[in-house]
Amino acid sequence: MYSNNDLYICRICGAKQSDPPWGDDGKNASFDICDCCGAEFGYEDATLEGLKRYRNRWLANGAKWNNLKMRPEDWSIDEQLKNIPKEYL
Ligand SMILES: [Zn+2]
Repeated sequence: MYSNNDLYICRICGAKQSDPPWGDDGKNASFDICDCCGAEFGYEDATLEGLKRYRNRWLANGAKWNNLKMRPEDWSIDEQLKNIPKEYL
């Protein structure tokens, strides 16, 4: 079941999404914006190279939340990054 949950994880920052960023089959991007890293699914995370570049830039800028009111009280960037499926690291 865990691999199924990966569908709800932002490939860039590891934040759990309310809807799967790339659809139920992982192939149809929603073009929603991640509350955490601010990436647009299907655009910033369309290629492995692109999503790594976006992630590195986001981390370098302090890993700020795009939608701050969605940030959990006990949020930890280190814990969240562990959610990223290894094929996107
Ligand atoms: Zn994200």
